[in-house]
This record gives sequence, C-alpha cells and structure tokens, in this order.
Amino acid sequence: MTMQALVLEEPGCLTLQKVEVPRPGPGEVLVKVEAATTCGTDLKAYLRGHPQIPMPGLFGHEYSGVVAQVGDGAPFRVGQPVMGVHSAPCQVCYWCGEGQENLCETIMSTKVLGTYAEYLRVPAHIARLNLFEKPDGLSFEEASLLEPLACVAQAISLLKLKPEMSALVIGPGSIGLMFVAALRMFGVEHIVLAGRNKHRLEVGEHLGARPQSLEDAGRPSGRGYDLVVECTGSVEVWECSLNYVRRGGTVVLFGGCAAGTRASFDTRKIHYDQLNLVSPFHFGTDAVRTARRWLIGGRMDLRPLLSGERALDQGAETFEDLKAGRGIKYVFRP
Ligand SMILES: [Zn+2]
Ligand SMILES: [Zn+2]
Repeated sequence: MTMQALVLEEPGCLTLQKVEVPRPGPGEVLVKVEAATTCGTDLKAYLRGHPQIPMPGLFGHEYSGVVAQVGDGAPFRVGQPVMGVHSAPCQVCYWCGEGQENLCETIMSTKVLGTYAEYLRVPAHIARLNLFEKPDGLSFEEASLLEPLACVAQAISLLKLKPEMSALVIGPGSIGLMFVAALRMFGVEHIVLAGRNKHRLEVGEHLGARPQSLEDAGRPSGRGYDLVVECTGSVEVWECSLNYVRRGGTVVLFGGCAAGTRASFDTRKIHYDQLNLVSPFHFGTDAVRTARRWLIGGRMDLRPLLSGERALDQGAETFEDLKAGRGIKYVFRP
C-alpha cells in the first residue's frame, strides 16, 4: 500500500511523492496523521539544510493522529486518538542517568521524521515513553503543538518565575509566542515581545505581551529585564540580548544558530553582573508531560499561532509563505 508524503529533496525543493506505508514492528504504532504543524526547525532545513534532517528524506516532526495499526505489545489500540513527540531518550546512557534526558546520546539518532504524510510509524521506545492518548476536548491541531511546547517547558523548568518580574522575549516566531503564553500562565505580568513582523507581534499582544521593536525595548526601571529570552537563532541577537538583562538576571539563549557560527560577549559583563546564561536544548520526558498538561489544562490558548490548514500538495507554497514571513504555523491535514 502506498501513501502521499512530502519529501525534502534538498534545501528549497519539497515534493509530494508516493511512498510505501510503513508497517509497524513489535511495540511500534502506525498513526494516521490528522494534523502536522510546521516548525521553525523545518523552515531552517528548507532554507539552508539542517544537521538533524537528512536529505532527501521524509519531512515534518510535529503531529497528532489516530492509531491505524499496532505492532505486537504496543500499548495502544486501533482507532485511539493520539498525540506525541518525535523522539525519546534511551534511559540507559550516562546523561539519562544524570537526569538530563534531553542530552541523551541517542535522542537525535532515533527520532522519527515524516509527519507531512498520511501515515507515520512511531518507533517502539517513542511509543512507550512519548506517545499519549489525546483527550477529545483538545483539537488535533493544538495537540500537534506538543513537541515545540515541550521545548519551551524544558526551558521554563530551568527558570524561577515570579509574577512581578519583567521579561523580554526577543523574536515573535512560534517559540517566542509560546514563551509569552507560558510566562503569562505563570502570572508574569510585564512581558515585552520584541520583533518586526507586525502580524506576529499582534498575536503576541493578544497573548498578553507588549509588542515593541528591539531598539525600543529599553531597560525597565533603568535596571534591565529580570529575564531575557532569545528566540531568533541569530548570532547578532544572541550577542545583543545581554544588553537588556539586569545585573543578576537570566538570559535564555534558546534559538539554535547556524552550524559553525560564533558569538562574542563582554566577559566583564557576564562576570561582574553575574549573569545567568542558559541555553536549553530539546526536552526530556518530564517536559513532554508538562507540555501535555499545559495543553490539556486549557490555561494557555495557542490557537492564535495556527495560520490555517494546508493540503499536502501545498507543501512548497506553504514553506515559501513561511520563508516570506507570512503566517506563524500552518497545519497540514493529510
Ligand atoms: Zn518542532
Ligand atoms: Zn540516554
């Protein structure tokens, strides 16, 4: 049996192809994809290639769907709505043992790509650890946001949030907007969202941030922000994000920059201002569960991030829209 799937041939070249429907082996689950959201990581791969996304190859890593087939021993049943992420830690390596599952030696080697397709085969260890039932009250589109939100939950787990603190989120892409929503959920009142894209800034305003250009973001109370969250993956922004934080404050360098790039910082500032720099990567199983609770709990409305549905044959057009800064996250409904 064959299915339609989007294949990223090389940067800038996305084609719809007929491929074999995968068969689930022992412990594996075949998911009929209902929603697959686009992601900044996918856009990076589309624009310039990505070390974690082989080409040519099946594309897409965010998803939700319905169980279509189960391999022997898989803890799911056919017809069950599910939501999940595309990776899971091994739980035996040094880092997993140290409670740093996000840094697991094999977390990236066993990930599953290919959610922009009719069916997705979820490997056994991912089905066991990071695939869950989707409650009826949560739409497939929102459930598909589990993976990026888990990245945000991983970062938030490193922070001490207080309602009275001031936060500057730089970059109004989907991750920046999710940070705004999460900070609001934790009661943080004073959030500035810096960027240029008017539509995305409006969405950020709707989520509870004050939109501003980075040049005008200033330094509240003359001290600077308690928390600065960099969500652009641009070296220049990594460097300048330190200018906005107060002495003793925290900078989250969230956006991964292009391979081989270097940033330079004022060592005096980092040391004498005792800056707390964190740069979280990916997520462990706890962060996935936290993100799932946030989605199900309904205290965070991420629907404004969804820019509309697309069919699989609109793959190229969808990524050209994202490249041009149109929309935030599109939802493929294969
Ligand atoms: Zn993603
Ligand atoms: Zn591991």
